[in-house]
Amino acid sequence: MPELPEVETLRHDLDKEVGGRRVKVVEVRAARIVRRHRNRKDFAVRLVGHKLGPASRLGTLLLLGLDAEDRAALVVDLGAGGRLLKERSAAPVDRHTDAVLTFTVGGDLRALDLGEAGELFVAGEPELDELAEERRGAVDPLADALTWQAFNAKLESRQEGLRALLTDPSFAAGIGPVYADEVLWGSELRWDRPSGSLAAQEVRRLHRAIQEVMQEAVRLRGTSVGDNPWLDLRGNKGEYEPHLNAYQREGQPCRRCRTPLVRERAERGETTYYCPKCQS
Ligand SMILES: [Zn+2]
Repeated sequence: MPELPEVETLRHDLDKEVGGRRVKVVEVRAARIVRRHRNRKDFAVRLVGHKLGPASRLGTLLLLGLDAEDRAALVVDLGAGGRLLKERSAAPVDRHTDAVLTFTVGGDLRALDLGEAGELFVAGEPELDELAEERRGAVDPLADALTWQAFNAKLESRQEGLRALLTDPSFAAGIGPVYADEVLWGSELRWDRPSGSLAAQEVRRLHRAIQEVMQEAVRLRGTSVGDNPWLDLRGNKGEYEPHLNAYQREGQPCRRCRTPLVRERAERGETTYYCPKCQS
């Protein structure tokens, strides 16, 4: 499942490998993924003939600028398990493929497994402003120069368990099950600590852990775990897995205190992994 470090890895690679390429053909294989448009053709005509520009990010949304007069962008929402793949045009098309953008030179960009939540659309400037406005309240762990004082005020304004808060997209962008557990382990805090109960020192630890964990995960190009692991633009796995300190490590010794980690049912039926001794 792509969380923020995986999305940022894709953004970086898209910028390098897709930026500057001109779209020749757009094939939408699943109509639901372009549901903001009247139909598939309406989506395609916004792209064909245009060069994809620099890649940016709005929280977990990926934006590829277009060389169009209205400063529009192709927006990619990967949903729960979507992928983007840069392929040779001659490569066989996987049956999970939802859309294929073929460039005039240099292969295809393919979107796979967007599921029910994922989508592609071309947005003009007003719509992009609206999308930015909707996300203004959420912390971007990679982009914000967020002071711990401001972070503290945000925490105190909410009264929730820390894990529920961290994974709430209206609080922070792109912290899912993997990085929530890692951030909490890094800050020595339990998943169910009420957000308003933290001492100043604990807020500082949490604030620091969010940035450190997310930045390190970007440096190592994300986490690929499980049967259907996340893959980057070239189909390669991320390298963060050996650095996981909590996620899916139940029964293994805590790397700080050697106590076996436990797994527990957390909010919304999700599973959390933590150290019952040094996280409090
Ligand atoms: Zn421990």
